[in-house]
Amino acid sequence: METLISCTNCKSELVIVEDKLFYSAEESETNISCPICNNTIDQKKTDGWFFIQTVTEYEKEKEIERKKERLIYPIL
Ligand SMILES: [Zn+2]
Repeated sequence: METLISCTNCKSELVIVEDKLFYSAEESETNISCPICNNTIDQKKTDGWFFIQTVTEYEKEKEIERKKERLIYPIL
């Protein structure tokens, strides 16, 4: 699950990706902090973990994933 958020301190556009565990564990309160300025933006409960990156990084990674798919299945 992806959530778009902007940092209240440095105004960076951030993407929070929640990775759930495959098995259900007890949910714990996790701090969401800005990777740019370390400002704590939010606190959310999860039984997995949160991966926070800037929109730019996120877009770049998606682009890399798309290229990988093309590399893996060039014959199909
Ligand atoms: Zn920030």
